Amino acid sequence: IDKVNDTVVYKSIKSFPSVRRLQPSERKRILVTGGAGFVGSHLVDRLMIMGHEVIVLDNFFTGTKRNVQHWIGHPHFELVRHDVVDPFMIEVSQIYHLACPASPPHYQYNPTKTVKTSVMGTINMLGLAKRTKARFLLTSTSEVYGDPEEHPQKETYWGHVNPIGPRACYDEGKRIAETLTYSYMRQNDVDVRVARIFNTYGPRMSPVDGRVVSNFIMQALRGESLTIYGDGGQTRSFQYVHDLVDGLILLMNKNYYEPVNIGNPDEYTIRDFADIIREKVLLSPISPDDVPIKTLPCPTDDPKKRKPDITRAKTYLGWKPNFDVHQGLQETVDWFRLQMTEGLI
Ligand code: NAD
Ligand code: UDP
Repeated sequence: IDKVNDTVVYKSIKSFPSVRRLQPSERKRILVTGGAGFVGSHLVDRLMIMGHEVIVLDNFFTGTKRNVQHWIGHPHFELVRHDVVDPFMIEVSQIYHLACPASPPHYQYNPTKTVKTSVMGTINMLGLAKRTKARFLLTSTSEVYGDPEEHPQKETYWGHVNPIGPRACYDEGKRIAETLTYSYMRQNDVDVRVARIFNTYGPRMSPVDGRVVSNFIMQALRGESLTIYGDGGQTRSFQYVHDLVDGLILLMNKNYYEPVNIGNPDEYTIRDFADIIREKVLLSPISPDDVPIKTLPCPTDDPKKRKPDITRAKTYLGWKPNFDVHQGLQETVDWFRLQMTEGLI
């Protein structure tokens, strides 16, 4: 059964990293909240292939069963429909807490629910960690830096966040989730890890989640205009999902409890990024007329620049990104194209 499942994962994702299989004595029971989402499902693949026992909790708001269906029936895998806003009882030794919508259209769809997910969901999972003495890892975000006045962003930067704007439900939700995490650490001795994740892309991104990578790829594949918000001069730094998963697993298993940026410092303006996508999708030198650009208003509080300082990750985790944007994007475009051909999206 391992072979069958591994083959499904390896075939669907070409550059899947090689994984060291654990001895049975090294196997852990691991809870992944939000494990049916984009990042969560890649983390689950890696943990399962390593040989861990994995329980996924998800309410399927933005995730889908399809992302993890290749593990259903595996004796080491369990998928539970559950909303983290409600308490959950289980015995585990590690908790990766990812449950939270991550794209601006999704987290702004029901902002109150987004706040509840970050606050009550994180309290519930920290409570579980406290009771079971599990190690707890929060997937926080570069959004805790808001529209940053320091560039690149170091973990010591306290951020520049509008507490009442449309992005606040997510940004402030994650900031309080970090506060809760360190309060449980100080007050209850919970063993914690905090990853501040920067923009991540890859196969299994939702084609309708409104993020720039999935929007541009879907628009280009359909021959529609690419929508650039504002003048396109704002910057982002994009990492491939396999690099992120490497970083999360390293962070969980190293002895470092301060927040750690996990991102690729390779920074692009959104305008340049649109050109890269057009080149990848058209598979030939681009002509600006092939896929036109449409300019739309810039969303409120859209950060003007973002780039991680990854000195901490390098120093304490021995981590750095391995995929450059061209390799990761080509694979992502190929995945979206295949899904379209097969009528799955
Ligand atoms: P995603 O939307 O694909 O995944 C989130 C998952 O959480 C989904 O499966 C969703 O159904 C589930 N979920 C949402 N609310 C829930 C609730 N109340 N109870 C149970 N499950 C719930 O997003 P993603 O990109 O995979 O992000 C995963 C995590 O990483 C999030 O916490 C996000 O904030 C963080 N993050 C992601 C990025 C990125 O670029 N992808 C950047 C920074 C931080
Ligand atoms: N963006 C864009 N066109 C789109 C979607 C997003 O120009 O179709 C811009 C958006 O305004 C932001 C950047 O791309 O400046 C990244 O947006 P995304 O939603 O992917 O992530 P975040 O803003 O959370 O970094």
